[in-house]
Amino acid sequence: MSAGLVIVGGSYAAMQIAASAREAGYAEPIRLVSEEPVLPYQRPPLSKGYLTGKFTPAALPLRAEAFYRDNRIETLLGQRAESLDLAARRVSLAGGGSLAFDRLALATGTRPRPLPLPGADLDGVLFLRSLADADRLRERLGGAGSIVVIGGGFIGLELASVAAAMGKPVVIVEAQERLLARGVSPQIAAFLADVHRSRGVALRLRSTVRDIRGANGRVQSVVCGDGETLAADLVLIAIGVVPNTELAGRAGLACQDGLVVDRFARTTDPLVVAAGDCTRHPSAFAGQLLRLESVQNAIDQAKTAGATLAGQEKPYESVPWFWSDQYELKLQMVGLVQGSDRHAVRGSLEQRRFSIFYFRSGRLVAIDSVNRAADHMLGRKLLALGRSPTPQQAADESFDLQTLVAA
Ligand SMILES: Cc1cc2nc3c(=O)[nH]c(=O)nc-3n(C[C@H](O)[C@H](O)[C@H](O)COP(=O)(O)OP(=O)(O)OC[C@H]3O[C@@H](n4cnc5c(N)ncnc54)[C@H](O)[C@@H]3O)c2cc1C
Repeated sequence: MSAGLVIVGGSYAAMQIAASAREAGYAEPIRLVSEEPVLPYQRPPLSKGYLTGKFTPAALPLRAEAFYRDNRIETLLGQRAESLDLAARRVSLAGGGSLAFDRLALATGTRPRPLPLPGADLDGVLFLRSLADADRLRERLGGAGSIVVIGGGFIGLELASVAAAMGKPVVIVEAQERLLARGVSPQIAAFLADVHRSRGVALRLRSTVRDIRGANGRVQSVVCGDGETLAADLVLIAIGVVPNTELAGRAGLACQDGLVVDRFARTTDPLVVAAGDCTRHPSAFAGQLLRLESVQNAIDQAKTAGATLAGQEKPYESVPWFWSDQYELKLQMVGLVQGSDRHAVRGSLEQRRFSIFYFRSGRLVAIDSVNRAADHMLGRKLLALGRSPTPQQAADESFDLQTLVAA
């Protein structure tokens, strides 16, 4: 009997590789090995509705248990893959024992980037990646008197918006000169900074952290690079993530800030595919290698990996998109804003309902929408089709952008 497919990982990409491999006709055994003790679940609510209780634990799983049973996907939960022997086709597990495979899929995702500073290990200093992290954060949030968020990225801002809406004093410490320097345009960053300030969140931009202080093992304050001391009985470190590529790297697979894959999600070993946050892939849209951290990327790339495992060729060519919820704002982004040289605003920043269209050499390359979901959906179509309004058309609300899709 064939040893089948072993998937290492327990989230969007792992689940979707299994689902898509089965859909594409892969008939051999599939085993999904995850170090987390629960079935794959949604991460985005962990920094949003899950913290407020709006999003219940029962709504978190990506698929019910029956899905795995019906599709003959065996789940080995709470088991960490420790090493790979590609020549012998075996995965060793941390608890002892090993699994044989014919094909291997790696969907190991990322982990929070650590902050190597004195005090980072104090009680009350938290990270947010897993359900277990979110449970710890949720438990502390209600009783927190003052909160410092280190890092002005999406997760930090989402936590800040939840905490500020609960009436908690929040300070965000960000090393760059603006929020979300890696992820969004200066226009959106400035807009969000204003929104946060208007909700009472204090921003310390161009500010570093010198150390984190506490008493009796519990956090009490954060000391900034300029000497300012910020009171804190809850600190969230949210300074980005590191791809989990050690397993692949030790086994000899090419890694370069991400496990390198081609457009069919194949690694440098013909038996091994990979998908999701842990990979660096050639983006047809961007014309370069990218490592993306998004649900869209994990799902779409995993569909390609699943097809590859079943012997089909389905190149990964999706246009990247992402979303973030802060206060009553739904921010939706499609395309890649980096390298754009011009923008046009459709709608009203004052009314907090607008889209910014970004152009490079006159071609549309990205759209960021705030509370304008229809623009976002339309943008996905336009960018996938390679169609572009002019900046004047984009800014003119009387111009029906739909005509460009229909054309
Ligand atoms: C709080 C939060 C909010 C987010 N919000 C958004 C959002 O609004 N929109 C959006 O698009 N994206 C959002 N993201 C990002 C999104 O969740 C990720 O892009 C997505 O989870 C990536 O999926 P993945 O399967 O590639 O990897 P991951 O979700 O990182 O999963 C990797 C899995 O592999 C397991 N694993 C790793 N190594 C091993 C091993 N050696 N053995 C066994 N198991 C292993 C890990 O424990 C984990 O379960 C958010 C992420 C977080 C943490």
